Amino acid sequence: MFSSIKGRSVIVTGSGRGIGRGIARRFAAEGCRLLIVSRTLSEAQRVADEITAAGGTARAFAADVQRAADMAAMAQAAVTAFGGIDILCANAGIFPAAKLGSMTESDFDAVIGTNLKGTFLAVSACLPAMKARKAGRIILTSSITGPVTGYPGWAHYGASKAGQLGFMRTAAIELAPYNITVNSVLPGNIATEGLAGLGAEYVRSMETSVPLGRLGSVTDIANAALFFATDEAAYITGQSLVIDGGQVLPESLAALDEMRSVS
Ligand code: NAP
Repeated sequence: MFSSIKGRSVIVTGSGRGIGRGIARRFAAEGCRLLIVSRTLSEAQRVADEITAAGGTARAFAADVQRAADMAAMAQAAVTAFGGIDILCANAGIFPAAKLGSMTESDFDAVIGTNLKGTFLAVSACLPAMKARKAGRIILTSSITGPVTGYPGWAHYGASKAGQLGFMRTAAIELAPYNITVNSVLPGNIATEGLAGLGAEYVRSMETSVPLGRLGSVTDIANAALFFATDEAAYITGQSLVIDGGQVLPESLAALDEMRSVS
């Protein structure tokens, strides 16, 4: 069993729905106190209300990770509400598809601005509170897309998600003297509202490409994020963990056919 992290102050960006909501609910179930952050206050408030109704502690906060002033206000809100920041889950992200040739400069800027610059701004805003206590856990939500795989339409997205890992490695070194660890979860295809928006056919084709035979759940990702926040993970920093049901493993479609032929 892992040591309790009850009472820790946790910020989850992009937790109004999807993976972020799953992470927030998982940490709340461990007794942590949550700041639920998204641009849409009504969604963040709904998640905070769910957690509160289940006996947990959560506040909603509207902020855009692309704006430094919003991130500073977010960090201040957590400090005011909970007395500090123990854990930041920098999870907010967007994944609009656009193939090269039709991808515009503003498409590229929006994805990099949210996913990569947003990670930098969220982390930077939380550092003063973490450094003051000489303790902190930062968990980034990256993706298999970019760091491990590619997918047509997601050159900008893949660059943003691989960029998060480059950011993480240097941040982990710089923050080690403050006892702040920085790690990443790399989800495969996770059943979320965002993924559902890509269409039933995409979802079906993804299911067939996963050796474990199903899309991941938000809880699968939340469990991994929670692990990085435990006391038992104190000596792990600058690392990334793929949570994808084995999706990146088959070296060809033939490998999946062979797997199915023997089962
Ligand atoms: P989602 O269901 O679309 O939820 C995204 C969340 O982020 C929402 O709460 C959204 O709320 C918030 N958000 C978006 N832009 C924001 C901004 N500029 N500032 C603050 N909040 C913002 O997406 P998801 O599937 O849960 O994805 C979450 C993370 O997991 C992303 O980083 C994504 O790249 C990563 N991921 C997802 C999958 C997957 O299969 N779903 C796979 C690999 C990686 P508002 O729009 O109200 O701000």
